[in-house]
Amino acid sequence: MRAVVTGGAGFIGSHLCERLLHEDHEVVCVDNFLTSSPHNVEHLKENRRFQLNDRDITHGLEVAGQVDAVFHLASPASPADYLRLPLATLRVGSVGTWHALDLAAAKGARFLLTSTSESYGDPLVHPQPESYWGHVNPVGPRSVYDEAKRFGEALTMAYRRCRGVDAKIVRIFNTFGPRMRADDGRAIPTFISQALRGEPITVTGDGSQTRSLCYVDDVVDGLLRMAMSDHGGPVNLGNPHEVSMLELAQWIGKLSRTTSDIALIPRPQDDPERRRPDITKARELLDWEPTTPVERGLCDTITYFRRLGSGDFTERWN
Ligand code: NAD
Repeated sequence: MRAVVTGGAGFIGSHLCERLLHEDHEVVCVDNFLTSSPHNVEHLKENRRFQLNDRDITHGLEVAGQVDAVFHLASPASPADYLRLPLATLRVGSVGTWHALDLAAAKGARFLLTSTSESYGDPLVHPQPESYWGHVNPVGPRSVYDEAKRFGEALTMAYRRCRGVDAKIVRIFNTFGPRMRADDGRAIPTFISQALRGEPITVTGDGSQTRSLCYVDDVVDGLLRMAMSDHGGPVNLGNPHEVSMLELAQWIGKLSRTTSDIALIPRPQDDPERRRPDITKARELLDWEPTTPVERGLCDTITYFRRLGSGDFTERWN
């Protein structure tokens, strides 16, 4: 298979590129490094089946030759990124998705949109099944991401219905692992960086808000299963086990053997109280569920950040 991965130099994208190459596929990675670094795919450049195109996909997405699959991951993903890049987020979620779908249509390729649990907003239903339409503030600061992804989902379904593209949607829930950016504002890299520096671990609110945390290798496995399936989705990919932010901070403190205290700070606007996927569909349609224990994933991620701190950017972090 020859696969195009938009956003392939990002956190999840770089793991997806690695996995595709490992399975002997060809990969064309398209990225403008808006929220990532070429370091993430530096180790893949030696591979003759890997091509890296430095390109903003909102300006168009042309790829010469055969394309069998388009994995569309390009988009700022962490709240810190999309809040500082509101227009770029809306543009890549709308125009960028349009170009990625046009490429799939022109090449007769399958297409996978990586949508998000944020499509459910601050949900009133727990856990969230795919049939839940969500509870989104359409004009709040986070709407640039939520609504861009919801538009991307509508566009994907329209191409599926009207243009006959084998287009699919997954909704990814909180994912973590090596190659997250220390400064991306999400809880795990923030807590680990603080713990490794011996600074207070800052938990927002009273820390009772929960997230479900899925290790990146499991999510990548779900992306491949969905792309190869006959289903259009949407299908949730995430870990149904909920962890409170306070528990997470304590866990990271223990695993990193830090002396840091935990400090409570104010919560950001529209920060969801709870998010937990119902993964019945993923289990039934894709025979998928997360298999990596969160504790093992956290240990690998802490190891990665320790190495990053010592300036070691080299290829596989393990
Ligand atoms: P990331 O920021 O690490 O990666 C996104 C990549 O897209 C980056 O490499 C960035 O440079 C690239 N990009 C952004 N705009 C671009 C443009 N106009 N042209 C070309 N490249 C562009 O984020 P991630 O965590 O790897 O997320 C990947 C995808 O998965 C995103 O679409 C995100 O919405 C989705 N997702 C991620 C999570 C998560 O927990 N990480 C959860 C839900 C959904």
